[in-house]
Amino acid sequence: MKNPFHIMLIPTLGCPSKCKYCWSSEEGSPIMSIETIKEVVAWLKNFRSDRVTFTFHGGEPLLAGADFYRQALPLLSDGLKELTPEFAMQTNLWRMTPEIAEVLAKYQVPIGSSIDGPEAITDSQRGDGYFAKTMRGYEIAKAAGLSVRFICTFTNKSVKFRDEIFDFFLKNGFTLKLHPALPSLRSENPKEWALEPAEYGDLLVYLLDKALEHMNEIEVMNINDLCRCVFTRRGTVCTYVDCMGNTFAIGPDGSIYPCYRFVGMPEYVMGNVYDHPSMGDLMQSEAGKLMSGFKEFVDSACKECSHIKYCRGGCPYNAMAPTPGRIEGVDPHCVAYKRIFGEINDRMNKEMFNTPMMEIGSFGPSAHRKPSKPGVMTLMRSIVSR
Ligand code: SF4
Ligand code: SF4
Repeated sequence: MKNPFHIMLIPTLGCPSKCKYCWSSEEGSPIMSIETIKEVVAWLKNFRSDRVTFTFHGGEPLLAGADFYRQALPLLSDGLKELTPEFAMQTNLWRMTPEIAEVLAKYQVPIGSSIDGPEAITDSQRGDGYFAKTMRGYEIAKAAGLSVRFICTFTNKSVKFRDEIFDFFLKNGFTLKLHPALPSLRSENPKEWALEPAEYGDLLVYLLDKALEHMNEIEVMNINDLCRCVFTRRGTVCTYVDCMGNTFAIGPDGSIYPCYRFVGMPEYVMGNVYDHPSMGDLMQSEAGKLMSGFKEFVDSACKECSHIKYCRGGCPYNAMAPTPGRIEGVDPHCVAYKRIFGEINDRMNKEMFNTPMMEIGSFGPSAHRKPSKPGVMTLMRSIVSR
């Protein structure tokens, strides 16, 4: 079960890579000080009392160096014991060293990294040499016992090679997490790489079929999350819940934002950790009001949609990207969400209808009958039993 309270720590916006569809700044960008981490601890002591996950994100968080993590991790872990902090990191792994890996392993920090499929496809959209550098870091992380999962960004260009990309993840035994390339609030040509919503919907249904076909060979995280949403009738990842008030990102200077995706844009600053703001202070900021405005907008715009409980209008950042600072629609990926949620619901209903009552009730492996091909109910059983 994921913690609903999520703090993203952005030690720097700098990144040594220059992925073509990303907005990170130059490598020399300022780095968060340990003083700021101490203020994060002091601020959170009296902010919320539930379990928290800290994700180190960027830019490229490894640019902060081994010393930063050697100090930051015990400060957060011991200083906020009552929130039972868990940690994660999203990194391209280029700057992973045995020294940093050892520090992260001590706190069991799971790593999310990014490759977009085979070397040629990855390098064509992330830059020459990206794949080799990430794989080098992966070997170091693995040697230290860290768990590494890869996010695969599908762009409107790479989606044409979806078979090759899926086979690459399958053959290498990598868990697959799909990320659709999105229009950015910061890009001059926001749609250059973006995956169109209809293409994204097709891709999700394709991955659902692939995940079912190879159920015991590969885990497709998005498909698991989407099935969980439909089955439990509530969102289980940030895109499908009201993230406002549950997720915050802290930039290198201690500024607080609604999410890492807004970091570095002054108009989305909600406060600063040095001021120890209350939840009320943050939500009363202009950015806070904008986020709450999205929630109200969804209540009205999506009220007729059968998926509203476990979709919640999708991601507010995506919704605002086409109209910066204004809310004039829900997440443009609505088309894709309706498609995949509809597909999972239809399949689940058909499977339930065709399953004897005893088997539905038990929710365990059926001793009576095996469907010819695994369906979403079989996938749900396998997720629950893991
Ligand atoms: S703005 Fe979007 S990406 Fe950020 S926490 Fe909310 S749903 Fe997630
Ligand atoms: S699928 Fe579309 S209409 Fe339905 S809740 Fe999600 S964003 Fe709203």
